[in-house]
Amino acid sequence: MDIKLFRSLLLEKKAALVEEEAAGKEAAQVVELDQTSVGRVSRMDAMQGQAMAIAANQRRQIELQKIAVALTRIKQGEYGYCLECDEEIAEARLKLDPATSLCIDCASKKEMI
Ligand SMILES: [Zn+2]
Repeated sequence: MDIKLFRSLLLEKKAALVEEEAAGKEAAQVVELDQTSVGRVSRMDAMQGQAMAIAANQRRQIELQKIAVALTRIKQGEYGYCLECDEEIAEARLKLDPATSLCIDCASKKEMI
């Protein structure tokens, strides 16, 4: 398996997420609204936009966490093996999501729960 390739894929993904995060944080900041000039509807809009930005931030945090785990596993020489069953994860699956830590069988079992 080409660990170097997956390592660079992970680092690229991480850099992109960190960049997105910086942009997203601004959007997630509390929206200060001037009550006199802003109506109820646009206040709702702003709150919804803020909620979406916060949700996107949370997704990024989870993804960054997964990438950090994957990079640690590369260092430990455990990358590419399923965390649950210790079987090798298919390379095609890793190419799709280099941060994945479960083989397809274990992942689909988890999704069913
Ligand atoms: Zn497995």
